[in-house]
Amino acid sequence: MSEKIYILKIVPPENMDKPKAGEVHKFAPYRCPHCHGEGGFNNSGWMGKFKKNMEDPDLEICPVCKGTGQLEANVVVGWVPAGEVKKPFKQ
Ligand SMILES: [Zn+2]
Repeated sequence: MSEKIYILKIVPPENMDKPKAGEVHKFAPYRCPHCHGEGGFNNSGWMGKFKKNMEDPDLEICPVCKGTGQLEANVVVGWVPAGEVKKPFKQ
């Protein structure tokens, strides 16, 4: 069995002086663990697990993936000053 992994190398960007110097890294797709990638559930009894009928009125949309069957990870990296102010800049 194999598994796809993502690695995020965190390095400050060059354009930090621009407003909103934050980064959003998107990683997708991941199979929704709540509905197992089905996008929803069939609640019409135990046979509903096996018979996938999109016309079934008992079909419920997955509240986690909103029916897509997939999830996306948004990793937000924010940058803030660290450490002490250097001597020439202290007031
Ligand atoms: Zn889902």
